[in-house]
Amino acid sequence: MDSKRITLALQKSGRLSEDSTDLIARCGIELRRQGGRLKVSSGNFPLDILFLRDDDIPEYVSDGVADLGIVGQNIVREKGREVRVVEPLGFSRCRLSIAIPKAEEFSGPASLEGKTIATTYPNSLRGYLDEHGVRAQVREIQGSTEVAPGIGLADAICDLVSTGSTLLTHGLREVEVVLHSEAVLVSSPDLSSEKQKQVEELLFRLRSVLRARESKYILLNVPNESVDQVTALLPGLRSPTVFPLAESGWSSVHAVIEEGDFWHKIDELKRAGAEGILVSPIEKMIA
Ligand code: ATP
Ligand code: ZN
Repeated sequence: MDSKRITLALQKSGRLSEDSTDLIARCGIELRRQGGRLKVSSGNFPLDILFLRDDDIPEYVSDGVADLGIVGQNIVREKGREVRVVEPLGFSRCRLSIAIPKAEEFSGPASLEGKTIATTYPNSLRGYLDEHGVRAQVREIQGSTEVAPGIGLADAICDLVSTGSTLLTHGLREVEVVLHSEAVLVSSPDLSSEKQKQVEELLFRLRSVLRARESKYILLNVPNESVDQVTALLPGLRSPTVFPLAESGWSSVHAVIEEGDFWHKIDELKRAGAEGILVSPIEKMIA
């Protein structure tokens, strides 16, 4: 094995797959994925990718079979393997929640006392129950947890939720959040210093891509008398760039703004007299 190449474990197919491979592509790392191959190498970065079931990723990374992995925090927590969480990645956001039949009363964790709860996350659920001093029976099942109460297999379930529509269609309601999750980059607990260097290079690229995702590039035309007011609204990387327009009395202002602030800022900018507002995505942002 080449000691300078790093191995990254990704989910083979499922909810994490597309965003994970997309992120790697945005880092400028070319992969030639061929059919159902388990391992793929990059020709332009010292990186090999292993495609696995998401449940197996913590084990492979903690054992050092893979140096890095992209997996949900929910799986990291459930498996309890020794891995280092290096970077939250902002996709596959969901929560592990307890849900009960819609009509049932619920007045806090104590309402679960003596109940049977079906889950594919027994360790996380036990942790939650212990933390709240609740004695309940944990019934571990494989998949389709949401049907369990309807067929009399359990009183409640503990499962992943994002919008809650699956719960709704099964007559269930979410009552407690056990944990919040998103995809994270994890690394093996002991990497050689040579590999560590490659990991740093990959991280540098990853962070540039992630930072750019949260930001937008904005261009607007502003009457000169409003430039101060507008630049105060737009902090930018350092401060906004201001150019004079060919038409006298007007300037063009360029800045970077946070995605979350966006609509709110646009309103304020229009009120300050800004016109011809253009907003574009940023591909990479180097700090
Ligand atoms: P595998 O065959 O790899 O074991 P799986 O069926 O266990 O796949 P997926 O359903 O693809 O897994 O989910 C993978 C991960 O995506 C979950 O562990 C979780 O982190 C995240 N996830 C699950 N459900 C949702 C959801 N409803 N919304 C967003 N992210 C989710
Ligand atoms: Zn899985």
